[in-house]
Amino acid sequence: MSDPTHTDQLTFQNPVTRFPRISPPEQDQPEPGLDQKLVPQTDRGQHSYRGTGRLRGRRALITGGDSGIGAAVAIAFAREGADVALSYLPAEEPDAQEIKAVIEETGQRAILLPGDISDRDFCERLVADAVDQLGGLDALVNNAGRQIAIEDITDLSDEQWTLTYETNIHAMYRITRAAIPHMPPGSTIVNTTSIQAYQPSTHLLDYASTKAAINNFSKGLGQALASKGIRVNTVAPGPIWTPLQVSDGQPKEALPEFGKDTPLGRAGQPTELAPAYVFLTSPESSYVIGETLNVNGGTPSP
Ligand code: NAD
Ligand code: MG
Repeated sequence: MSDPTHTDQLTFQNPVTRFPRISPPEQDQPEPGLDQKLVPQTDRGQHSYRGTGRLRGRRALITGGDSGIGAAVAIAFAREGADVALSYLPAEEPDAQEIKAVIEETGQRAILLPGDISDRDFCERLVADAVDQLGGLDALVNNAGRQIAIEDITDLSDEQWTLTYETNIHAMYRITRAAIPHMPPGSTIVNTTSIQAYQPSTHLLDYASTKAAINNFSKGLGQALASKGIRVNTVAPGPIWTPLQVSDGQPKEALPEFGKDTPLGRAGQPTELAPAYVFLTSPESSYVIGETLNVNGGTPSP
């Protein structure tokens, strides 16, 4: 699909055929991978997501906002009326610039904050810069993550195990801890977990276990922050076509079949995730706390 859809998310349509059933060719990119080099291209809603004013005046920090799900969320948030700060790795500058341009077309602000969130000092700086440049912070989307498939636990190094934990869960804790003092009542935190939290793949032991930790962390934190008026929820994607999958996130030979084993029979596109993040960030979900919203094409989940 080199031509993203122009049909907006509110148009009545068949979810089976809303997006094509893709068979991505085997391909490889160095971590973290670029959306711009992905074959086929992903649909981040750039030509289709229609805002309805649900995040008017909000100020959001989105990690991993350059590509994939985070980029789709950034585009949706801007079209819903939010200014957004995007966190990503310096190597992802081309993707980040592309999303910045899409956001600025909406008349909202896009602030680019490159850096490595596995560095604990950077996590503090990231939040400080976001608060400073957005003029405050009332929405946090902890979406960055790394996923490297390793066939056998005997090949899983200490370095990989530690870096996956630093990136996926330690950074989430540090960024959240730094953000909370700035967040007024009504603010929201949405964390990205995964279907891997409940159905771990044998080649993703480190990754899948961080995702289980994210669910647990979010349910605990949701209770802890409720009385402050800050709501915490998570989104658990199923197989979504993004650069994560081609930068060693999946065994290469698995790519052509990616997502075909879901009840819907196809991989998801990043823009199909965006409404879940919008809902959990919008005031309309005021009584929803500690929830995991599964967006996975129909696979049963707890
Ligand atoms: P993606 O590659 O587009 O996004 C991941 C982002 O994480 C990268 O763009 C990068 O900016 C960021 N990141 C990684 N390491 C970082 C670091 N050290 N410092 C700063 N940023 C860093 O892929 P995606 O699939 O959109 O992933 C977004 C989230 O969705 C991840 O948490 C991923 O685990 C989760 N997820 C994805 C799928 C899927 O099938 N694609 C399924 C379940 C969960
Ligand atoms: Mg990226």
